[in-house]
Amino acid sequence: MSTIAAISTPNAAGGIGMVRLSGERAIEIAAACFQSVSGRPLTALKGYTAAYGKYTDGETVLDDGVAIVYRAPRSYTGEDVAELCCHGGLYVTQTLLRRVYALGAEPAGPGEFTKRAFLNGKMDLAQAEGVMRVISAQGEAALQAAGNTLAGSVSKRVGAVCDSLIKTAAALAAWADYPDEDVPAVEQEPLAEALKKNADALETLLRNYDAGKCVTEGVPAVLCGKPNVGKSTLMNLLSGCEKSIVTAVPGTTRDVVEETVRVGDVVLRLSDTAGLREAGDEVERIGVRLAKERIDRAGLVLAVFDGSRPLTEEDAELIRLCAGKRCIAILNKADLPRQADPAPLNAAFERVLSLSANSSAALPALQNALEEILGVDGLDFTQEILAGERQRQCCAAALNALRDALAAMENGVTVDAVSVEIDCAVEALLTLTGKRASEEVVNEVFRSFCVGK
Ligand code: GDP
Repeated sequence: MSTIAAISTPNAAGGIGMVRLSGERAIEIAAACFQSVSGRPLTALKGYTAAYGKYTDGETVLDDGVAIVYRAPRSYTGEDVAELCCHGGLYVTQTLLRRVYALGAEPAGPGEFTKRAFLNGKMDLAQAEGVMRVISAQGEAALQAAGNTLAGSVSKRVGAVCDSLIKTAAALAAWADYPDEDVPAVEQEPLAEALKKNADALETLLRNYDAGKCVTEGVPAVLCGKPNVGKSTLMNLLSGCEKSIVTAVPGTTRDVVEETVRVGDVVLRLSDTAGLREAGDEVERIGVRLAKERIDRAGLVLAVFDGSRPLTEEDAELIRLCAGKRCIAILNKADLPRQADPAPLNAAFERVLSLSANSSAALPALQNALEEILGVDGLDFTQEILAGERQRQCCAAALNALRDALAAMENGVTVDAVSVEIDCAVEALLTLTGKRASEEVVNEVFRSFCVGK
């Protein structure tokens, strides 16, 4: 396989930058652009050894730094790897990268280091997805869940279900194929019990994934309310920075602004909308339509009302739009004398929070309400949690097949039909861990990775 190289640190100026190489010629190429102060070339170093020295760009010295050598198979990718750490200026890292390209390294594709780790058996596909989740984790709980996946907790749980199903399938096949021989008959009851136990394990994985999603992936949330009730102010309070245009002129937050914010452990993927006013203005109307669509699509609605003014017909319209949605009603501007009658809100919403969006004192109550309504306060992130939709789909497909197998047994369908369903479940679980994933699936997983990982 070719030797690949990429800048593995962010594409920005920083204290330290790192160019990473992996492949048969990694150490040889690294040695050709590095002179250690000890005089020993990198090619003479054992694995897990670092050397201090100078990076040379042909004749001229580019920078000084520490180069680390890893020898196959004891490296991240399972191949020979060299990590060239230098000062984190863009010019330095890019020049060093160009130099290793000139010496024969090829540009690494997105996630190619991790893909090689997968292909070389250093980790399975579920763990590889855990790597990306660790990188993109936005809070402690999300990091804990991702770290567990990376360490192999999902793979272990799914692997155990898979092994048990393979054993069952093998027993069924032997019995069906050699009915006259001395193969023990497969009893219905223990078979159903075993399938049920495995189905339960998959169900738990799916349940925890759905609950944990607002922590690991974020919940699509929408902030809505008529103009001037304080949506932008609330958004800024949540994100801690001035992202949307806060203004006293009604209707000026016209474009939909999307932003990811973390409140406690919960990650909200928030859209600020143009308000719900039925206006004559074209742009405003687009905003209104979007607001309605977004309420329908959102996993959580934050409906904002101005407590310092009586509620209006527009507020009543918003209350109607929120019916049946997971929703927190916010009665804003609590620092001003209360003019709004909260009765219609209390009647329509499970949770009504009275607060002042212009004060950070409002945050703890908001955080509590969010964690409660999203059901994450009781979740244990030290348990295995599926990392992403692909894993969820594989798990759901396996569960469906097991349910079909159980239904087939109940209906007295032949052993063959039950076996087919168990095989389907096994197939889905092997795709999840990557033991039997197609090349397209593997490529799709690594396509979303960043270059250098
Ligand atoms: P939007 O149109 O719903 O996005 O409303 P804005 O966030 O632009 O707020 C409209 C006006 O209300 C601005 O002048 C804000 O400073 C003010 N405002 C927002 N929240 C509060 C609050 O809690 N208390 C008071 N007194 N004023 C607020």
